[in-house]
Amino acid sequence: MSYVITAPCIDEKAGECVEVCPVDCIEPGDDQFYIDPEICIECGACESVCPVSAIFHEDDLLDEDLPYLEKARKFFGRE
Ligand code: SF4
Repeated sequence: MSYVITAPCIDEKAGECVEVCPVDCIEPGDDQFYIDPEICIECGACESVCPVSAIFHEDDLLDEDLPYLEKARKFFGRE
């Protein structure tokens, strides 16, 4: 299980999440930041600092946001 960065990050890419992640598992992609789902320790620090509320725990994702978990998996080659 992990946290997931969703649509509000696209073209925002504020980046506060990168600074607070204790395991350095957030990386920038072309259009948004991504969380590596196999390294995230579910601490929630990134969720608290995101200025556009783009970050959710996997269990709390809306159906429409589920593709963002797959997008992150693909970004890190986790398939
Ligand atoms: Fe990093 Fe914690 Fe956010 Fe996971 S929940 S990406 S470990 S800051």
